[in-house]
Amino acid sequence: MFIAGNWKMNGTVAEAEALAQALVDGLPEGAPATAVFPPALHLGAVGKVLEGSKIFMGGQDCSGAEKGAHTGDISVSMLADMGARGVIVGHSERRTDHGESDADVLAKVKAGLSAGLGVVLCVGETLEERDSGRAEAVVREQLGGSLPTDFPAGSVVIAYEPVWAIGTGKVATLSDIAAMHGMIRSWLQDNRPEIAKTFILYGGSVKASNAAEIFATDEVGGALVGGASLKSDDFLGIIAAAM
Ligand code: PEP
Repeated sequence: MFIAGNWKMNGTVAEAEALAQALVDGLPEGAPATAVFPPALHLGAVGKVLEGSKIFMGGQDCSGAEKGAHTGDISVSMLADMGARGVIVGHSERRTDHGESDADVLAKVKAGLSAGLGVVLCVGETLEERDSGRAEAVVREQLGGSLPTDFPAGSVVIAYEPVWAIGTGKVATLSDIAAMHGMIRSWLQDNRPEIAKTFILYGGSVKASNAAEIFATDEVGGALVGGASLKSDDFLGIIAAAM
């Protein structure tokens, strides 16, 4: 299992440090692989708190370009330089707020891999796409458009996040999660065998109270957690549910 906390655009440096410290102090022996994705400006401070701990740290996004005239963007080498070991790409909030296409996301996946970062690739359908019966086709298209055809094994994790379940308190049914995760697994086996065994995370209003049943669902290899990763007790509760 792999449990990842996406802190999004929240908090101060001091709050990020305190949250990281509470996770370091509270992480139980034998916890699954755990990662946090603080705001980019907090990476340096959080990295210091996490030093020597078993918690990985990553960036929430990266540029697809290596360097240069891209005002406001953050390159993968800058993330790595700040101690990040991974990066989230293709989050629906990036796709919506910044109009990122699958081609943009593909460039980011390639950039992350080239810097040796573990990449968490987010895919997921909108409510309209689900209601019109296109959820699986949309996710297949996102996978095909954003995953390169050659990469080192084990370096990409997929996060299935139905857009309508993110930050809304709505969770996909367990049978919908199982169906989508099963589809993603067989798509990977058929199309990207190098990462056919990678973790497939579920994301969308995961909490300590619903995590256990989600983790018991076929092909769920953990969670990408937003809101509930901002409180250490809640996030540690999700981690406990994965043990
Ligand atoms: C996310 O942003 O990836 C997410 C799943 O958010 P939340 O847990 O708040 O729904």
